[in-house]
Amino acid sequence: MTSEAFGSVTVVAIDGPAGSGKSSVSKEIARRLGFGYLDTGAAYRALSWHVLDSGADTRDEPAVLDALRTFDLRLGLDPDARTVMVGEADVTDAIRTPEVTRAIAGFTRVQAVRDALNDGFRSKARESGLPGVVIEGRDITSVVAPDAPVRILLTASEQVRAQRRGLELKTDAGDVAQAMSQRDASDAHTLSLAQGDRGVDVVDTSELDFEQSVAVVRGVIEQRTGGLHGR
Ligand code: C5P
Repeated sequence: MTSEAFGSVTVVAIDGPAGSGKSSVSKEIARRLGFGYLDTGAAYRALSWHVLDSGADTRDEPAVLDALRTFDLRLGLDPDARTVMVGEADVTDAIRTPEVTRAIAGFTRVQAVRDALNDGFRSKARESGLPGVVIEGRDITSVVAPDAPVRILLTASEQVRAQRRGLELKTDAGDVAQAMSQRDASDAHTLSLAQGDRGVDVVDTSELDFEQSVAVVRGVIEQRTGGLHGR
């Protein structure tokens, strides 16, 4: 039921584009199963913040690698305690700004950066002391936890995703759609990989509300783990 990289911890890997419901569904699943929740996007965001805070450009590879050496990320696994710290700085809100979000694309293709962050994700889950961890983010199903017993790709139509993001950010759906499709384009590669992977269950939430999405994902988890984690 578990992969070597994670010891006895059951990993539920959840991937998907912005607006698919991936964060809210992942958190709820973690709450209901008594699992941890690892928001890997928050780590990418925090690194982007840290690079910008040091005065560097996130496209400057040596500067990003340098920033990684002093990257003291404090990211908890409690789905209800979402404070993110870098050293002593509380960056919970700062990492959600458009500037920090845009700047992430500067280093997402640098393999050494991805490898370092991914190693951190694996050890955090393995050493969590919890029965399981829901790990959420791009390439989790394919690279970070390819052997996890449960690997899910949450999707939704572009229109539905733009609407959801617009509601969340209280902005115009048109503006959101534009920003989102830019991010989709840069994340498309990893997503298409997951979609084509036969061990990955694709859950389309376009026609589902939140409770229904949670129920479908729980169904997949129960099926894949033999009902070990139903509650
Ligand atoms: O999930 P979230 O929207 O917070 O992620 C922000 C960005 O970080 C994503 O658009 C993606 O470019 C990058 N990311 C990544 N790999 C992950 C998580 C996030 O490349 N595992």
